[in-house]
Amino acid sequence: MVDDNPLKHSKNRTLGDLSVSGRSGIQFPSLDVPEQEGLPKELLREEYVKLPELSELDVVRYFTNLSQKNFSVDTNFYPLGSCSMKYNPKINDAVASLPGFARLHPLQENAFIQGSLELMYELQSSLMELTGFSGSSLATLAGAHGELAGVLMIKAYHESNGDSQRNVILIPDSAHGTNPASAAMAGFSVATIPSDSNGNMDVDAVRSLAKDNLAGAMITLPSTLGLFDTSIVEICQIIHEAGGLIYCDGANMNAILGRVRLSDLGFDVVHLNLHKTLSTPHGGGGPGSGPVCVGEKLLTFLPSPVVTKSNGKEGTHFNLSDPVNSIGKVAAFHGNFGVLVRAYAFVRALGLTGLRHVSGDAVLNANYILSSLKDVYKVAFDRKCMHELVLSLSPQKSKGVKALDVSKRLIDYGIHPPTMYFPLVVEEALMIEPTESETKETLDSFIEIMRKIAIECEENPDVILSAPNFAPIGRLDEAMAARRPNLRQVY
Ligand SMILES: *Cc1c(COP(=O)(O)O)cnc(C)c1O
Repeated sequence: MVDDNPLKHSKNRTLGDLSVSGRSGIQFPSLDVPEQEGLPKELLREEYVKLPELSELDVVRYFTNLSQKNFSVDTNFYPLGSCSMKYNPKINDAVASLPGFARLHPLQENAFIQGSLELMYELQSSLMELTGFSGSSLATLAGAHGELAGVLMIKAYHESNGDSQRNVILIPDSAHGTNPASAAMAGFSVATIPSDSNGNMDVDAVRSLAKDNLAGAMITLPSTLGLFDTSIVEICQIIHEAGGLIYCDGANMNAILGRVRLSDLGFDVVHLNLHKTLSTPHGGGGPGSGPVCVGEKLLTFLPSPVVTKSNGKEGTHFNLSDPVNSIGKVAAFHGNFGVLVRAYAFVRALGLTGLRHVSGDAVLNANYILSSLKDVYKVAFDRKCMHELVLSLSPQKSKGVKALDVSKRLIDYGIHPPTMYFPLVVEEALMIEPTESETKETLDSFIEIMRKIAIECEENPDVILSAPNFAPIGRLDEAMAARRPNLRQVY
């Protein structure tokens, strides 16, 4: 199967390689204006530009093939942990593209966009129902943006109580890097909550950190270890008793949709990644949306605008409002409206029962993979996982094959690598999130491939160390490829 991979035939072929001197895809018409005389000599080219010379068909094939090298969840399995790269039903894109939504101008009068404001109002209500909170703002444009808005609200809350000495935020050692970054951007210092041997937060450590300077905590639930922290209620109580507020990083909501209301556990504020959990294609930087939902204490601090509803003589009217103690505007206009439309369509199509199926199937699929691989790979914590599982490839590493190598080998089999080396507390971590949308056949095929790779690690490590063996490009300098991509065609 792998040897026939068609990608190997197109390795390193550029337009320059295809160029044949004198070949052309177009014929220019003859000049129908007088030729210009007397242009300054220094502006005239002395040599022809070296452009590739190609037929039209060469160009069409080249770019069509290039477009097919994009990896996406629409083409292959994409188990990128913590990112919920689930299939996003096309109907949601179609709804967001309806001209009445897609062609709105952000400066249109509220009176002319009542339908769109109603959609935002209804989405706020659905997110409040899903989280159990009493207020919501859709203004924030990404998960990390929601985090920043959340901690700024916590800061404004303490300041309004005259508690500006509260300047420490607790964050577990398994957290996504955006959590400490957001807390620091909001001016807090960060103290780390260590994980215990089961992957839960260490309750005693939280107790010892809960002092007068405590502003609150940022906790991911389920954690980025893919685990539901069984101490969460106790930890929220300890933090509340010390006067802190608790932020939930809700990026992993796919695991608990329709089953757990975060407010019931003790959280005060959460962000939801609509582009992960509620159906917007993502990757490559956006657009996304990270609405925040809050309990009573933070209701008046929400970022503006919040959509409100009034019932007057002329009927129901939807307005854009600024909560009284609002931390202010955090983005232009109304948020990423197209993403909001997709989320609304998704929620309405599935309903609460459907959303419960989402989380049920997401967790079932992850546990199916976990139980089918744990005899050949070491699992980071041997207990039931939520929507994702974390393997540790430390035993393979001791034989010379790292988590990175196994990830690269998966590319040979047409599978997107899992998240690697995260969470940081697991050595040689591979974090696998299958999502709810994959069939049992796809999961079985992934399991078979992972088991084959486990054997290769023992018997034929060279084929893993040289992977990807069939992709057009091998191992990139990942940091530089993202920061300074070379997008120029070289001839
Ligand atoms: C993805 C993610 C974030 C950040 O979300 P963005 O939309 O990428 O800013 C934060 N926390 C966790 C746990 C995540 O998985």
